Amino acid sequence: MPPRVIVHTSVSAERIFHCVACRTSTPALVVGIGQGEEVGAFATDEVMDGARRDAEADAEADVELALSLARCPSCGHRSAAAQRRFWAVQASAVALATVLPWSGVGIEYGLQGTTSGASILGPLGVVVGLAVAARAWATWSTVRQRVHFTRTLRETGG
Ligand SMILES: [Zn+2]
Repeated sequence: MPPRVIVHTSVSAERIFHCVACRTSTPALVVGIGQGEEVGAFATDEVMDGARRDAEADAEADVELALSLARCPSCGHRSAAAQRRFWAVQASAVALATVLPWSGVGIEYGLQGTTSGASILGPLGVVVGLAVAARAWATWSTVRQRVHFTRTLRETGG
């Protein structure tokens, strides 16, 4: 397996949170976390730049994701559609990571009638699937810490 360079980064961006329920717009400072990966035998400038660019793009996407999953500071509403979309994407990523290696086992069995080398891929898929699930949970559970509303609206009424 060729060596990989992995870069982690975080960006903070100012966004406007639009609530579909109470129609308020609140400025927010959103922190996005990203990971970039590039394959290269040595950590050259090009490889590092590539990984960094990937990490930044990933972090930018995470900003939008965190914003879409945030709870409205005025009424507490959170977009059900955004939540559904998030979990649908995560579930398919976990399923793919878990199931894909098993297909390797199946192909080998079909070709050779045995599962000698590929049998290790099945358990590996479970490990990768768990890692993907852990990352999904980290994204989900840190949304509150990563979306800072810079102007909190006063509570109206009691
Ligand atoms: Zn609201």
